Amino acid sequence: MSRPGGGGRLKTTGMFELDIRWLGRNGYLERGSARRVRQTINGHLIADARIEAKTDALRVTIGERCDWVDIARTEQRLGGERRWFMCDECGRRAAVLYGFPLSCRTCQGLAYPSQRETERDRGLRKARKARARVGGSGNLVAPFPGRPKGMHQVTYDRHWAASIQAEQVSLSLTARLVANSATVRRGR
Ligand SMILES: [Zn+2]
Repeated sequence: MSRPGGGGRLKTTGMFELDIRWLGRNGYLERGSARRVRQTINGHLIADARIEAKTDALRVTIGERCDWVDIARTEQRLGGERRWFMCDECGRRAAVLYGFPLSCRTCQGLAYPSQRETERDRGLRKARKARARVGGSGNLVAPFPGRPKGMHQVTYDRHWAASIQAEQVSLSLTARLVANSATVRRGR
């Protein structure tokens, strides 16, 4: 293995990244596989991730945090198929995802830094998306929708967990914003 673990180009982004082609070549995508990826830059460890292959999805855990990434397949013209990550932010296919939670190059702002979303906005969007996937309106104040007919319990639980996690991130960041502005007001 010539790469530091999970794909090249680490020097240009300095972020955790997963390359689905590299994972495929190294057996990480075989269902039931549960292995680690350690990434270093110039000898410094930047991520020690656990990668578990589920049905058309990967569960990636770094420390206490975990993220799910869906996998899509496209047929190749000369036969066989190619696997892609589905970016959770924009829903587009990508061969490489960056950061944690993982998303594509564009969503991470690596392509256009000025378009980078705040962490809070991203959390809200992710929570709405998880609700939309189980048939909800995306209204974060409404109760989380029930499991739609035909959706596996495991899939439903995953969307539910993603929504809760994203909402908590956004709520804690919102609370911090409110607390900061309250401090400023008190200080006057
Ligand atoms: Zn994206």
